[in-house]
Amino acid sequence: MTKTYKITLLPGDGIGPEIMAVTVEVLQLLGKQLDLEFQFTEALLGGAAIDATGEPLPSVTLETCKQSDAVLLAAIGGYKWDDLPSGQRPEAGLLGLRSGLELFANLRPATILPQLIEASSLKREVVEGVDIMVVRELTGGIYFGKPKGIFINENGERRGVNTMVYSEAEIDRIGRVAFEAARKRSKRLCSVDKANVLEVSQLWRSCITELGKEYPDVELSHMYVDNAAMQLVRNPKQFDTIVTGNLFGDILSDAAAMLTGSIGMLPSASLGAGNPGVFEPVHGSAPDIAGQDKANPLAQVLSAAMMLRYGLNEPVAADKLEKAVLQVLDQGDRTGDIFSPGMNLLGCKAMGAALLRAMGE
Ligand code: NAD
Repeated sequence: MTKTYKITLLPGDGIGPEIMAVTVEVLQLLGKQLDLEFQFTEALLGGAAIDATGEPLPSVTLETCKQSDAVLLAAIGGYKWDDLPSGQRPEAGLLGLRSGLELFANLRPATILPQLIEASSLKREVVEGVDIMVVRELTGGIYFGKPKGIFINENGERRGVNTMVYSEAEIDRIGRVAFEAARKRSKRLCSVDKANVLEVSQLWRSCITELGKEYPDVELSHMYVDNAAMQLVRNPKQFDTIVTGNLFGDILSDAAAMLTGSIGMLPSASLGAGNPGVFEPVHGSAPDIAGQDKANPLAQVLSAAMMLRYGLNEPVAADKLEKAVLQVLDQGDRTGDIFSPGMNLLGCKAMGAALLRAMGE
């Protein structure tokens, strides 16, 4: 029987609509091939929503997202809206979407594709074979803990305060996402903290260790964040899945991503409790190349693969999409951002056509 999934599409701004169009075509073909039906509903977010409605996240967009099985987002933002006050800028739409859907887990893979190894700033022998998933807690920790603010003390001096706080329940729910993600990969999980200094990290470590007893098939290790930062550039191949809090994850996921050297290739997933997940490329709306058919659609397509794997539990379909991406790269097809001499330079649409051929259109 055909399985049906409701997908909300948020193409957003800049190159968003271009890379989304390619991804929708690819998903439509995949659906036909694997007997899956994707019912797409497009909604407004970011600058496009500001222009049409005056708000970066219209309530109908959030409602549509909540009613769907998964949300596929491209990117938002651009020069046109840069002078608006911060609460009215396109980014406010993105933050509103994340909090509206209670997306507490951010999954960022950093995979070195053999075809793009030269794009990394590290030596081939260090990065060859790297395949890491960073699971970052997204709605807690020092970014949200209270008290926070800049206060004036008795002698008139200003003090800046943020509070790093995690409850057992918050640690438990991100831990579960990470153990489940590790299960879908090589079954190794490294929890990163600063338990030698921070009490909040001591609680983190004890909760993750306790949770580990429920996942005896996953090999759990712990590492201090300073060591993890060092090991990521010294010997990244030792990592499979990493789980960490909001602040450490913010920094480590960017460091891990840059091992790959190419921003146009990086997908991400944000998952919440009881709401659909949001799947989006790591890159922004690239206003400098928007409307020129130069964008690399592969991070968006790989985000769709993450949607299939982590949002809809359709691993066969996810594998097929990822295989098609590898095949076009094997053929030497490249958009400008990952181009090197001797390869075939393609635009966004032509890259989409190459993917469809690779899937056996
Ligand atoms: P960016 O990621 O949009 O672009 C950085 C550079 O990478 C640019 O030179 C761009 O052309 C290139 N690039 C990015 N994605 C590409 C792709 N798919 N194919 C080819 N080249 C690509 O970051 P930025 O320039 O700092 O930001 C531009 C706008 O995007 C800003 O308004 C920013 O706020 C917004 N932004 C949005 C998100 C999001 O939607 N999640 C994330 C980051 C930035």
